[in-house]
Amino acid sequence: MHPHAVSGPVRWHARWVLPIAGPPIADGTVVTAGDRILWVGPRAEAPHGAPGGDARDEDLGDAILTPGLVNAHTHLDLTLMRGGLEDLDFFAWIRTLTRAKRQLLTAADFRDSALLGVAEGLAAGITTFGDTADNDAPFEALRALGARGIAFREVFGPDPAECDRSMADLAAAVEARRAHATPLVRVGVSPHAPYSVSDALFAAVAAYAAREGLPVAVHAAESAAEDDLVQRGTGPFADFLRARGIAVEARAAGPIALLEAAGLLRAGTLLIHCVRASGADVQRVVAAGCGVAHCPASNAKLGHGTAPLAAFLAAGARVGLGSDSMASNDAMDLLAEARLAVFAQRAAAGRADLLPAAEALALATRGGARALGLEAEVGTLEPGKQADLVAWRATATGGPVGHPAAALVFAGAGMRAHRVLVAGVERARDGVVAGLDPAVPGRVRDAARRMAEWRGQRTAG
Ligand SMILES: [Zn+2]
Repeated sequence: MHPHAVSGPVRWHARWVLPIAGPPIADGTVVTAGDRILWVGPRAEAPHGAPGGDARDEDLGDAILTPGLVNAHTHLDLTLMRGGLEDLDFFAWIRTLTRAKRQLLTAADFRDSALLGVAEGLAAGITTFGDTADNDAPFEALRALGARGIAFREVFGPDPAECDRSMADLAAAVEARRAHATPLVRVGVSPHAPYSVSDALFAAVAAYAAREGLPVAVHAAESAAEDDLVQRGTGPFADFLRARGIAVEARAAGPIALLEAAGLLRAGTLLIHCVRASGADVQRVVAAGCGVAHCPASNAKLGHGTAPLAAFLAAGARVGLGSDSMASNDAMDLLAEARLAVFAQRAAAGRADLLPAAEALALATRGGARALGLEAEVGTLEPGKQADLVAWRATATGGPVGHPAAALVFAGAGMRAHRVLVAGVERARDGVVAGLDPAVPGRVRDAARRMAEWRGQRTAG
């Protein structure tokens, strides 16, 4: 299909409209014009016209209409690694991933991989992505397929002696990319994680981002190995850094305290994971106004544990859901993340009333928008917001739909969205993504096969 820009005002009618900003509307209507939402309410009360002329009717029938889903944390360029790094402990997992990036994969691989990642997301109703990468592929792929997002440019550098060079490279990459930013696709920075970034580099990025008005994303408090390094200067990351000639000592009471000392605990910073956040950490993160990307599938698959989501929500945190990379998930499916988020919290607490489906769906929409600082534009269906809409076929959840949010969250995993609009332009319909080169999936499969062979050789060698 070709991207379909909807001209003139449209009245989108659906069996259910879930504005997230308010209760579900049975037999509801959303009126859009261009890239904006004009009106949301019961169909019987929907205005017939709008500034711009008479409205056209689009009857979606037995559908559930929601805001576009917001995936607060992705690594779109790593889509080709799905199934490629199974059953490794965290240190071996990230070392193998990094070696594959450096020794095997090409810019063309990352380009295809990112395009496929955005396409899979759009097909699954994700209209906004918070992506971190050390190359331009996700930024370009978001622009090419008309999705919305923040492309956080990653910077690495565990050796304080590398700090100035890392900052120069980061600034050059950000400047080059900023010239091509659009209202939909923006630029941020991502000092990767405490085990891959020195304290000096964290502080330098914090100062640079503040000066330039750039949003920041950091992986934080993800693993026990990270705690060992930060709190005690021990464990596999400490051994690895010492072997490279980098001095290692205890740095802080924990990763959140380390980021606070670097000046990164502030509004405009997205903290990715926060699995091992203490009660005091939760309070500090919320008081600082940071966003949190909760990635339940990735955290469970890599054996990191379950983040204290209920504590973050009780404290009023700006929490969204993230799929993380396909190397640690392996599905780009935010409804599945919402389901797992509920199940993990309820299983741990022994309570059935924790995190109702409507709240979990809010995490996948408004929560992600708040975590990324985009809540003025997306995350809910409200007049004045961007026309990022997703229609889900109610029958695809198995039916009958007694509770639309529960149908999506508990029975919607794996669903392809029926209609997906970003800023009023249709970008996907029933799994078909507008503008995706049909050769891309095959090329990504080839790259994945090369990676499997490379790993086989490495094991044999
Ligand atoms: Zn990540």
